[in-house]
This record gives sequence, C-alpha cells and structure tokens, in this order.
Amino acid sequence: MKFLLALVICLVCLGIASAQPKVPTESALDRFLRYVKIDTQSQEDQTTVPSTRKQLNLANLLAKELMVLGAQNVRVSEFGIVYAMVPGNLADNSKVPVIGFIAHMDTSPAVSGENVNPIIHKNYQGGDIVLPNDKTQVITVEKNPVLKKLIGDDIITADGTTLLGSDDKAGCAEIMTMIDTLHQNPQIKHGDIAIAFTPDEEVGGGIEKFDVKAFGAKFAYTVDGEELGEISDETWSARTATVTFQGKSTHPGTAKGIMINAMYAIGDYLNRFPHDILPETTEGRVGFVHPYAGVIDVESSSLKILLRDFDVSGLDAKEKLLRDMVAQTAAKYPEVKIAIDVKENYKNMKEVLKNFPELTNNAMEASRRAGVEPFLKPIRGGTDGSNLTFRGLPTPNLFTGGGNFHGKLEFNSRRGLEKTTETLINLVQIFAAKS
Ligand SMILES: [Zn+2]
Repeated sequence: MKFLLALVICLVCLGIASAQPKVPTESALDRFLRYVKIDTQSQEDQTTVPSTRKQLNLANLLAKELMVLGAQNVRVSEFGIVYAMVPGNLADNSKVPVIGFIAHMDTSPAVSGENVNPIIHKNYQGGDIVLPNDKTQVITVEKNPVLKKLIGDDIITADGTTLLGSDDKAGCAEIMTMIDTLHQNPQIKHGDIAIAFTPDEEVGGGIEKFDVKAFGAKFAYTVDGEELGEISDETWSARTATVTFQGKSTHPGTAKGIMINAMYAIGDYLNRFPHDILPETTEGRVGFVHPYAGVIDVESSSLKILLRDFDVSGLDAKEKLLRDMVAQTAAKYPEVKIAIDVKENYKNMKEVLKNFPELTNNAMEASRRAGVEPFLKPIRGGTDGSNLTFRGLPTPNLFTGGGNFHGKLEFNSRRGLEKTTETLINLVQIFAAKS
C-alpha cells in the first residue's frame, strides 16, 4: 500500500514537473551579484578597444558560462566582444528570424566600480534607503518615485562607496538566465538566438568594432534600459558644433592697436545661449544645445557644443540658432575671425524602426505576458542600438529593472531581474509563434 501510494505521488510529481518549467541552474539575482563584483570600468580617451583590460575578465567568464549552457560558436573577439549563438529547437529554425540580445559589460568611468559590495535590502517596506558605508548617499522616494512600486521587493544597491554596475550587468545576468532557462526547458520553443556582450559602451568605442554580419541576427534588442516596462525605439538625433574664434596675440606692453583678444568674442557668444534649451532646463521630448568644452586664449579660442533633438527639423533649427549667434558675435567683434563647423554624430533610430513596428509590438506583448505594463520612452541619448540600427541591424532597447545609472545611488531589484528575464523568454517564443 505504502509502495503504491509512493508510486502515485511520484507520478503526480512527474506530471507536475513536466508541466512546470524547470528553474535555471542559477537565479538572475545570484548571477547578477556575481557579475557586479567583477570590476569592468571603462576609461575615456583610450586608443584601444577594450579601453581597459579588466573588461576581459568578465568577457572570458561569460564565454565559459555560455559554453556550459549549450551555446554554440562562442568566441571573444580581439576587441573583447563576446559572441554566441543559442540554437533554435523548432522543426525548421530557418522560418523564424534570428533575434539578437546585446548587453554591455563595462561600467561608467564616472564612479569607481572596484570592490563593489552589493547590499540586498530584503522585503523593502517603503521610505528612503540610506547606503550603509556612506550615510550621505540616500536613495530618496522623492527623487525616485519608482520605489513606491518596489514595496515587498528585495532591492539591491551598492554600499555607498561605488556604483552598483546594474548598468549593464543586469542585462548580462538577465540574458544569461534566459539562456539557462531555455537550456533547462526544451519544451519552450524558439528560433536561433544571437548573443553579444560588448565592452566600452560607456565610452562609445566598443560598438564600432561590432561585427554585424558575424553576429548573424536579423533584429536585435539591447537590454540596457531602466524601469520595468520601459521600451525605447527612439533616441536623439545628434550633432556636434565646433566654433573657433581667431584673434591676434602680441606682447601686452606693445599691444596697442595690434592685439585682438578672442576671449571677449567667445564670452559674448556664450552669453547668447538661450536659457530654455539647455540640458539643465529641459526634459522629455525637448531637445537642447550644450556648450560642454572649450579653450580660451587671446590668439585662438574655441567651443564645442552638443546639439540634440528627436526630430531632424528641431536639430536644423538649433544649428541655425548657433549660426545666427555666430553672425551676431561677429558683428560685435568684426576683427575676430569666427567660424562654425557642424558634424553629424548619430540619428534617431526611429527613422529606421518605424519600418519594423513588430519589434516594439512584440516586446510590449512579451512584457505584458510577464505581468509588466509596458510603456515607450524616448532615450535622451544614443545607444549602441542606434548605431547598429543604422548599420542594418534594427535594435530597440529593453528595460533591465534598474535605476540611477552611473552613480552611487544605482539600484535594481529581485523582481526587476526576474521579470526582465521572463520578458526575454516570452519574446523569443512570440517570434517563434508569429513566424
Ligand atoms: Zn548601459
């Protein structure tokens, strides 16, 4: 009798086991906690990619783990980019577009990523979060209203002395946990999935070395956004202006009638910037002009200015404004030679992505199926995806669950990591089902 009962219970267990997906060998949270402890800070103004050798420590680790999880053609390129292919399990994988997922391994040069000590604030019950090793570092509800949605969740922060590195090790952990889950659950049907982990996203050099063809995807997603549900298929269109002011230097003791001091002209030019279209006075869909670096000298002064807008017409208007300001300053300082040169940096990826609405729609559906209400948010910046989109690989950006990137107040949560992973798993199934 006991034996029979045991047998019945066992069969019931098996029944349940075959219906319920198996859990991954390591949770998204545990993976995340491991990855953030590896220092992968990138560095500005380096001539090599990756800009710092230490990024390879994570690259090599991810490559090893990808192999263990059954990924194929795993390799680390000479530039430290990790590529892999997760083979599909459909009768005919060629009928489904190869979908790529990309996360970046480096962390911002703005704040140290050495000796990151992740703190888990279990079962968060509301209120400001004081970081233990520097009590002046406080994540306030006032500045982070998203905290109200995290009641009962386990929030992960750094200890107040470093950044956390959720940007973008959350994306790395979520993609890896998706692969792990798919590996454990062959009953989840999907086509071929291309994977890449990139260095130097924060310093803008890594993506130039990205081999779109070798990656092998038709469409891709960067997993590098913030709040749960946030999906971005729009970025800035971006230009940079350089304005030069040429004067004439001479010994000040004998300068009368000879010296032309370019510094007054550059001062006049700076004073003409309208206050309502600066980074510090704009948000949402409103673009800006931003003088961000300059050289000031009697003989030769110069100014570098960022122009940002979601619409090309808005960008054109900002360029015209800067040129008009040049004319006005030149009229006031006729002896100073002033020249302006404007270069295009990147374009709003929406110009391409509007032709592939299914990318955004499928992502929104995947998010909804995970119980997360999706919303579209234009990115006030560029992404690796905007670069790839214009190189023939349409690539919108997905949330990671994190917030407060590039600073000591950075955070993510257990639910953020789990729901993002679930969304990725839903997404590959949606593409398989719709093809
Ligand atoms: Zn990022």
